[in-house]
Amino acid sequence: MDSINKRFIKKSKFQRKLSDQSSECLICERKCKIREGATGFCGTRMNSEGEIYTLIYGCIAAESCNPIEMKPLYNFHPGTKAYTVGSYGCNFSCFWCQNHHISHPKPSVRKKIETCTNYLSPKHLIQKAIESQCEGTSISFNEPTLLLEYALDVFDLAREKSLYNTYVSNGYMTERVAKELIDHGLDAINIDIKGDKELVRKFCGADVEKVWRNAKLFIKNGVHVEITNLLIEDFNTDIQTIKNIAKRIKNELGKDIPTHFTRAFPSYNSDEFGFIKPTSLKKLYRSRLIAKKEGLNVVYIGNI
Ligand code: SF4
Repeated sequence: MDSINKRFIKKSKFQRKLSDQSSECLICERKCKIREGATGFCGTRMNSEGEIYTLIYGCIAAESCNPIEMKPLYNFHPGTKAYTVGSYGCNFSCFWCQNHHISHPKPSVRKKIETCTNYLSPKHLIQKAIESQCEGTSISFNEPTLLLEYALDVFDLAREKSLYNTYVSNGYMTERVAKELIDHGLDAINIDIKGDKELVRKFCGADVEKVWRNAKLFIKNGVHVEITNLLIEDFNTDIQTIKNIAKRIKNELGKDIPTHFTRAFPSYNSDEFGFIKPTSLKKLYRSRLIAKKEGLNVVYIGNI
């Protein structure tokens, strides 16, 4: 870890030692078993002498003060702005990634971390948020679960200054991490459901049931939840898939949960999988209609 800025390195609270010198990372549901000297799937967690460390505490790849509607969170403090930061890496492998330059950067996440010069302390982030007249914070751009230790410190300070805290996530954190975020003052989260069980397993390498579990947990604990469905032409745009997702949102999360259908553009490895043109507007409008017919009251389309 010598090549990495010392300030980016922090011992993880969420890990379990295994009997064979490796440790299990308990930040997200991948639960990587990491050998001595190796990093987990996302490239942001490393095992050094039997302990797992984050390599991206305060390692900021992108930051800006922008409208809360951009998350998208349309029904949470509309008209306000959130100071938004993100880092490198991702725990999913979606071929359509719209933020691949930071989530799956070339040549590697490790290289980006090693060359990153932008350290932003939680205190400095809050100061910048206040100076730029933001009403809250947002951890976004790449998967925010990977910035967990940093987010918890940011959230604590934000609460002291009466700022709200938000996440834009794939919702794949462990249950323990979801509860920790709630305890530290997460106020709102946008979760991208991505598709049905088979699609999420095949293209994202994840179990979507864990995402539904977390969405329910956040709602039960008073966190404002909005759901995004990024529509990938011919992969998750068919009528039955949209019907199933809408039904599930209504039955398991509630008919008033704001639901977004957003347009995707070919990106990252899209060519390889045959996703070569932006999602058709017709299918976006159709999805909104289907969701309304299934009983959802608050349905938006976006990115058009
Ligand atoms: S955060 Fe997730 S993907 Fe990254 S090392 Fe931990 S369990 Fe693996």
